[in-house]
Amino acid sequence: NLKVGVVGLPNVGKSTFFNAITNSAASAENYPFCTIDPEESRVAVPDTRFDWLCQHYKPASKVPAFLTVIDIAGLVKGAASGAGLGNAFLSHIRAVDGIFHMVRAFSEEDVIHVEGELDPIRDMEIIHEELRLKDIEFLTKQIDTNARTLNRGSSGAGALAEKQKKEEFAFWKVALEFLESGKDIRKGNWSNKEIEYLNSLHLITAKPVTYLVNLSEKDYCRKKNKWLPKIKAWIDEHNPGDILIPFSGAYENQMAALSSSEDKAAYAKESGVPSILPKIIVAGYQALQLIYYFTGGPDEVRAWTLRKNTKAPQAAGVIHTDFERGFIMAEVMKYTDLKELESDAAVKAAGKYQQKGKEYVVEDGDIIFFKFNT
Ligand code: GDP
Repeated sequence: NLKVGVVGLPNVGKSTFFNAITNSAASAENYPFCTIDPEESRVAVPDTRFDWLCQHYKPASKVPAFLTVIDIAGLVKGAASGAGLGNAFLSHIRAVDGIFHMVRAFSEEDVIHVEGELDPIRDMEIIHEELRLKDIEFLTKQIDTNARTLNRGSSGAGALAEKQKKEEFAFWKVALEFLESGKDIRKGNWSNKEIEYLNSLHLITAKPVTYLVNLSEKDYCRKKNKWLPKIKAWIDEHNPGDILIPFSGAYENQMAALSSSEDKAAYAKESGVPSILPKIIVAGYQALQLIYYFTGGPDEVRAWTLRKNTKAPQAAGVIHTDFERGFIMAEVMKYTDLKELESDAAVKAAGKYQQKGKEYVVEDGDIIFFKFNT
């Protein structure tokens, strides 16, 4: 169950965004086995391939890929040292896999800004700093605690384990210095070994970030805002490679209030721009380095989530451990082939129904039928 947390200063539009997502067509309400929590919303990842497969197979059950979005309140300046809700937000943010960093770039006299004047760059710096300080605090504690046990000498573990512990400990100090130099962990150039160490730390600044810039409806529709180029420049300088998506809480709110798809389409047409929510959900999902493959048939069309570079037996294991244990082969169709040739039989006849072994690395959008021994 993959989670993205929405963070940002108060009054930047987090709840508005969260409500719009929850009320959108992609929301889990349309999938009966899902529940919605007040602070947690499960949304289907929009995918035209999935939609086409559902039309094609007309299955009894449809299960898309899901992303869970969580509203994380309580981040203010000084939060790392206990201001505002202080550490309350921390356990939430540690538990997420990725972050939507919400930045306010709409000026609205009636909506008070906690820091006074509207200034998205200052806001981004505050959030950036607070998250980094939290990681620094955590790593410092980790180093202190372990320094004591390391100094106590041999723990009775083997020499190799002892050596690895020392290496890991040395790496923590490197990571701490990196944070102290003002950088987010995810922007480091780490070796595989170091990434392994990082994975067990669950640092906040290691999580992928997508910046959502909240514009007034007017700016969103005319695709112009004086802060946007500055925000882009800030990201390119501090966190190059992170994605920026302009949106408008006000616009999405209006859209979410319309119930019929005809009304929504009319609203988008009148505004000249569509809702950006589907794109935000897809970006949030992709930032997690995830892909999915499909299984399809009259019973069910379903998306199965994998880390990138997963091999066929492990991909089968996502469905059931028996599938992995007894793996024989994966029969793979490419989505484009099925769409073009229009039936499984035609794909087979064209020689494009591929039989893949246990070294096959599953690709995003593969349609797979696994053969296995029971
Ligand atoms: P949060 O504290 O970050 O969750 O912020 P909210 O979502 O509660 O938004 C704070 C206020 O800003 C609310 O009164 C919203 O109606 C308003 N707001 C949110 N997004 C927009 C926007 O895009 N344009 C305008 N004008 N107001 C917005």
